Amino acid sequence: MGLRRTAGRRAGLLLAGLGLLALPACSGGSAPDTLKVYSGRHYGIEQASEAFTAQTGVEVEFLTGDDAELRERIVAEGPDTEADAYITVDAGNLAAAADQGVFRAIESPQLDSVIPEALRDPDGRWFGLAVRVRTIVYNPARVAAEELPRTYEALADPKWAGRLCLRSSTNVYQQSLVASLIAIHGETTALEIVRGWAANAEIVNNDVLVLESIADGVCDVGLANHYYLGRLLEERPDFPVKLLWANQEDRGVHVNVSGGGVTTHSKHPQQAQRFLEWLATDGQDVLVAANHEFPANPAVPAEPLIAAQFGTELVRDPLNAATLGDLNADAVRLMDEAGYR
Ligand code: FE
Repeated sequence: MGLRRTAGRRAGLLLAGLGLLALPACSGGSAPDTLKVYSGRHYGIEQASEAFTAQTGVEVEFLTGDDAELRERIVAEGPDTEADAYITVDAGNLAAAADQGVFRAIESPQLDSVIPEALRDPDGRWFGLAVRVRTIVYNPARVAAEELPRTYEALADPKWAGRLCLRSSTNVYQQSLVASLIAIHGETTALEIVRGWAANAEIVNNDVLVLESIADGVCDVGLANHYYLGRLLEERPDFPVKLLWANQEDRGVHVNVSGGGVTTHSKHPQQAQRFLEWLATDGQDVLVAANHEFPANPAVPAEPLIAAQFGTELVRDPLNAATLGDLNADAVRLMDEAGYR
């Protein structure tokens, strides 16, 4: 529970500041049937809501902010919350919200049919709406093809000492990846792998810095979510970093979701559910267009930049995203024990 306590304390400190970001709706200026969405996912969500409004006539207002702060805010507001839906990134955050009672369980035959089972909560409290793939990135000028690490496990090899750039253990993306190692290997082997990473790693502050450090030769290999490289390549087609899909010969590459659910105290639960159903169907394209995630709905094709840069043929780890949340506290503890700072 280390992570969640930390997140809670930090959110508590920042809550006062968050109050400054009051929704226009708080001033009472919006129609009573306006849908209120608190979102920790920043890319594309507003464009998506505009398209939703154009199609359905339902107005949507957003409060965007840090994932944990918004979650804590919904908890603190209790029955008075204006949030009808909460949208965030990473199954670890979605599961934490579910644990804190943020979401109500909903029954949606449509969501159940279009969102694969592995990408949603078995209890119907949250649904993955887009997919992010956390995989191996490298500098092709500094790593020969035959030397490439093809698996997460291979990054523990001492040959990557000082050549591996990783986010810190406080990053939920890394926590979820380590949770997936625990799920497949058990704790003892996962601990060995993470010890190897920790011994090799230069710790950097965000995924963009991982990629830039590799481009600059600070590191040769690293781990990043695919869409950060997608965005960099969109701006700089000659950006000198490539990705490979990890673990294609065994369980598949680690996938995670951004997604959301209807809040426990929503005043407009039917519209909120309709918004999620729309995001999972007609809204998939616009949801992923700005962010370069993969659609969660398998019937929707990948957006063109991702398809062209990375291809869409990838073996994905079939682990249920909910397991990443279930094992989050274990992952945080294991990373600490491994000396991964
Ligand atoms: Fe991200």
